[in-house]
Order: sequence, then structure tokens, then C-alpha cells
Amino acid sequence: MSNTNLLDTPIEFLKGVGPQRAQLLRTELGISNYNDLLHHFPFRYVDRSKFYPISTVTDTGTFIQVRGTITHVEVVGEKRSKRIVATLKDSSGTMDLVWFQGLKWVVEFVKPGQQYVVFGKPNEFKGKFNFSHPEIELYEHYIQLGNEGLHGIYSSTERLKNFGLDSKGFFKLIKQLIAQLKGKLPEFLPEKILQKYHFVLREEAWKNIHFPLSSEALKEAEFRLKFEELFIIQMRLLKIKSNRNVYLKGMKFETVGQNFYHFYNNFLPFELTEAQKRVIKEIRTDMKSGKQMNRLLQGDVGSGKTVVALICMLIALDNGYQSSLMAPTEILANQHFQTISELLKDMPVKVGLLTGSTSKKQRELLFDSILKGETHILIGTHALIEDKVKFNNLGLVIIDEQHRFGVEQRSKLWNKSEQFFPHVLVMTATPIPRTLAMTIYGDLDISLINELPPGRKPIQTIHRFDDKRLDVYEFIRKQIASGRQVYIVFPLIEESEKLNYKNLMEGYDMVLQRFPIPEYQISVVHGQMNAKTKDWEMQRFVNGTTQIMVATTVIEVGVNVPNASIMLIESVERFGLSQLHQLRGRVGRGAEQSYCILMSSYKLSREARLRIDTMIKTNDGFEIAEVDLKLRGPGNIEGTQQSGLIDLKLTNIAQDQNIIESARQTAQFFIDNDPSLEQPENASLLQFLRENNKSKTNWGRIS
Ligand code: ADP
Ligand code: MG
Repeated sequence: MSNTNLLDTPIEFLKGVGPQRAQLLRTELGISNYNDLLHHFPFRYVDRSKFYPISTVTDTGTFIQVRGTITHVEVVGEKRSKRIVATLKDSSGTMDLVWFQGLKWVVEFVKPGQQYVVFGKPNEFKGKFNFSHPEIELYEHYIQLGNEGLHGIYSSTERLKNFGLDSKGFFKLIKQLIAQLKGKLPEFLPEKILQKYHFVLREEAWKNIHFPLSSEALKEAEFRLKFEELFIIQMRLLKIKSNRNVYLKGMKFETVGQNFYHFYNNFLPFELTEAQKRVIKEIRTDMKSGKQMNRLLQGDVGSGKTVVALICMLIALDNGYQSSLMAPTEILANQHFQTISELLKDMPVKVGLLTGSTSKKQRELLFDSILKGETHILIGTHALIEDKVKFNNLGLVIIDEQHRFGVEQRSKLWNKSEQFFPHVLVMTATPIPRTLAMTIYGDLDISLINELPPGRKPIQTIHRFDDKRLDVYEFIRKQIASGRQVYIVFPLIEESEKLNYKNLMEGYDMVLQRFPIPEYQISVVHGQMNAKTKDWEMQRFVNGTTQIMVATTVIEVGVNVPNASIMLIESVERFGLSQLHQLRGRVGRGAEQSYCILMSSYKLSREARLRIDTMIKTNDGFEIAEVDLKLRGPGNIEGTQQSGLIDLKLTNIAQDQNIIESARQTAQFFIDNDPSLEQPENASLLQFLRENNKSKTNWGRIS
């Protein structure tokens, strides 16, 4: 039986499990084989090599271990308050041990005069510390069991605990498992990598992550296994990337010609920022390289990605190719179409728009013109790619605000082609820290616009408590009087759609009372509206018919209304940082000073406070992203859901940035030097990756 098969062994075959517990392990924790159990890591460790003198027990927060002799055991109380109280004494003092259940067992096991080791979290009761239901063991057994070193605490569930699988139960099972795996977890990293990072061997790492003898041993084990976890991901991403380079030839865009220059010299209404120039150069280098481009363009809201997209599409046109620009919503597609049509003025470039609202007749004309190559630039929603739109010669696909697109979807898109596939540029306004980008978008090259166009007045961010609402409304009234528009955003309350709606409608009523029709016109947009009504409401705000837009977070992505100067966010404590930053980015797009007003109640958690302070302190999306990552971990950051990142069991993306870098570098090293892992020294690595990627990257494809 090979090693893989051993780790795939169903969990019921492990000694001490059996069918009933196996069933529970599956349903409660998703542990169905040896490998899953191996990955059930302790969530915390306590030092069981130390005994605390009883007199030094002063806090109730942590697990500790004491040793002493039982001096007294007594049953107190009646019926439901019946309990056993035992007194434990060491040379420094005494404390009580209390049991409310399992009394019979306690009476048999806990005997005066005997020495015990007691482990648990102290409680405070009437000024004295006690243990309730501690783990307790005869001292002589403790010695025999070899309970030395750090002791892992495992998470469990009520039902599992009822079947003996509490933390201690897991401890025993995993001990059993590790014993069984002895000699069966061979090293797969080549010697030079092991040496470079001073890694402990794999088997040792697995043992020490569960049963570390010291905190150094634990650290080494964690380092090694985190690396392993990240390395597998990076190998997969870089393999996808390199496969694309091998299999997909790129169209060579060698010329920068008439359309580009004509636009650049005559129609571009502003000087490009240095950052815009730099990324255009990076993109151009890709597009003329003969390889197919797959690039992520990251730029904070308002950094000017649209014009970069346009310029790239003009370069495609100069080389005789069509382009398409895909937006996530109809309203954004409309906006891009308008912006781009205006920018191109009367240049001989034909721009088409394809959305769900395009009529059948228009559609037919459009399809025909696309097929003939008469339409040079096609702007639209998802329909662009998914429908049977046939291009004459599509050379560049730009995907805007596409953080909902994971690696798997992307690779599907790209793998469609046999030989030539258009260059792909993914644009996102979600700033994410470099190491996270490396993981979510690790199969892409990354360009960054890290500079806003000059002359922007930084948005002023203000925090107001709810009781200042009238002042805030007064301020809004003045802004509207001077011709500005205002967003008022209410939070989504996740538990209930109905509640959301109610929340929003109450908010709407509140706004309506202060800003009555017909003096004021208000748009309302929420998640339960159908797309058509939503678009209509938005459109009224975009074209200035309404002065106020009351909404849930649906306006987060992309909408551009330069005349809007206030973003008022209600119940700000309910929003995540990145979300707040995205919302704030909806204003500050015009010439006027803009404001972001954060409203909250007085009751704020420490984290909510930190989010508000961060928003006030900085407008820098990357700085905000770093804080957000630290606060919430990667699971809540957009894009991670699809990336497989959530599956990270050990790595903390915010804290382990160095390990991510190392894993990336190492993976790159293999991809550069032995992309198919054919060299004998890499054979075990290849074997390992094949086993770990069963359903994912096809490592066999290359060979
Ligand atoms: P985003 O990156 O959020 O998509 P946009 O492309 O919508 O940003 O650009 C925001 C605004 O900035 C637009 O009104 C655009 O015309 C303007 N803009 C873009 N680049 C520059 C520049 N270099 N100088 C001045 N204004 C610019
Ligand atoms: Mg944009």
C-alpha cells in the first residue's frame, strides 16, 4: 500500500474510532480519512511540563496545570444543585475542584491522600479560584503517560464530546495516528531547499505540530508545514501560468500606430500620471512579447484605469485586432460605453455596447458588425464572453472590477482556446496586500497604479454619532442647494432579507421626512429589486434627476457620478473596512470637495472604533487593506472565496507574509529550472504534488 493510500484510509479504520465515531467525525468536522485527522491541528497549546503553585493561580483566562494531594472530598447540595467538592493541596495552598456531573465516577476516582495532576481553566467563585470539571490524573499515571512538553488543545463539538472525543480524545486518536504513520511520511523537498530554509523533515514536522516537546520544536514544525501549505498553492498557480505560456501562443502587437497617437495627441483630455504611463508600458511589453498576456491591473478607485484600458484597446486596433471590455453590471457597462465614446469623439473607431437590454434587432446588427470586424471595441456585461458572440479577430479582453472571478473560472476562460487566445487584462479596484495578491492572483502578472491623478481634493472623512443627525442633514441640504448629489447607504443585515428591506425603508422614510418630495427627488436601490428597476433608479441618479440615492451596498462597485460629493454611511459599525473604502470611493470624483460621513451609535466595539479611525486617518486603499486583513483574516476579503485560500489551515495570511514570499520564490525556482519536474532529484516532489492536486492542476499534462 502506498503512502497516499495510507493517508486516504477511511477514518473508521483507525484504532479507537469505529463506525459510530467515524460517522460523527464526518458530519461534525468533515474528518473522513487519516489525512483529515492529521490536519485537525491544535488551536492552542499549553505547557504541561510546568506545575503552577496553587497560591499563584490568579486568573481565569488560561489553562494551567497544578499538582497536589486531595485532602478532602465531600458531596454537597441536594438534587439539581448536588455536586462534589474536593480540596487539592500543594505546599503553597489549597483550591477546590468541583463536579456537577459524573458524580459516581468522581467518588470512585478522587480519593483523599492520593497525588494528582489537575489541568483546566480556573474559575473565580466568592473571591477564591477553583476548577470545575478539570482533567484529573493520578500523578503516577501522568508520569507513565509521558505527558511532557506542550499539550495541544483540539476543538471539538458537543456531540463528539458525548462520544469521548473532547480535546483529550483527539489527542489520543492523533497519537495513535502518528504512531501508525511512522516511516510513512517521506520527505519530498530536495535537499537544497531543506538546507536553504533549515526545514525540519516532514515526518518530524507532523509529529511536532501535534506533540511538540518545546516551543522551538513547535515553531519549526509550523514553519515547515505552513511553507508546505503555501508551496502547494504556489506550484499550482505558477504551473497554470506556465502551462498557458507553453500552450497558448500570444498575438504579437508590434506596432503602436495611428489610432493610439491620434488619440494620445489630440483627444486625451489630461496628462497621464507616471503610474498610468508605467502600467501601459508593462502591458505593451506583454502584448508584443509573443506570449499571451494575463495581467492584473490593480488601482485604487479613481486612479484612472478606464483610460488605460482604452489606450490598450487602441493599440490592439493599431495591430488590426478587436477588443472587448467586460463589466460586472449593466450600469457599469453603460458608463464605460459613454465615457469611451466621448473620449474617442469623432475618431474613426466603432464602439459597440452589448448588455441584457440590447434589443434583439440591435443585437443582430451588432453581431453581424462584430463578425465582420467593423465594430472595433465591444463593451458589455458577461454576455460578451458567454454568449455566442463571434468576433472577427479578438485580440484583447479586458475584465473590469472582476474580483468575483477566481483562478478556476479564469483558467476555464483561458483554456477555451486551442492556439491563439486574446490577451487578458483583469482590472480591480480592490486593493489587496502584495502577498495576498500573490496568492489570489498568483497566476497573473501584476501591474499597479499607485498614484491618483493630480488636483484631486482628498475626501474628508468625518465620524458623527447618531444624535448629530440633524446637523448632518443640514449639511447635506446645503450641499444639495449648491448643486451636489448625495449617497446615503444603509447596512445589509445578513440574517434576514426582510429585515434589510425594513431597515432600508425605515431609513428611506427618515430621509424623506427631512428631504420631502417634490423639493427633493430620491432614488432608492436595494437588493430585492429586479435589475431593471435598479438600473432605472440608478440612472436617475446618474443623470441628475434625483439628488439623493438611498441604497444598500449595491452601489459599491464602480458607479461614477462626479457630481456626488457626500457619502453618508449609516450604522458604520456594521461595515467592513474594505467595503467602507469602496463606498467612499464613490465620491471625490469631481472638482468639488467631497465628504464621507460615518454615522454610528455611541456603542462601538474596539474593532469598529479602529475601522472608523483608520478611515479617518487614511485614504490609501493599500494601507486600509493591510488593516482589514489583520482584523478579519483573508476569508472575508473579496476574491479569497474563490481562491481556495479559505482552506488554509495553518497559515495566517496577515502574519506569515515572509513564508508566502519564500513559498512563491521556491515554486518559481522549480518552474524556471525544471517545469515538468523531470529531474530525478525532483521525482518525489512531483509524486507529492500529483497526490495533492488530484482534481486540480494536471501535472501529467506536460510529460
Ligand atoms: P477607476 O480607476 O476607478 O476606474 P476612472 O478610470 O473612472 O477610475 O477615472 C476616474 C476619473 O479620473 C475619471 O473622471 C477620469 O477621466 C479621470 N482621470 C483618469 N486619469 C486621469 C489623469 N491622468 N489626469 C486627470 N484625470 C484623470
Ligand atoms: Mg473603473
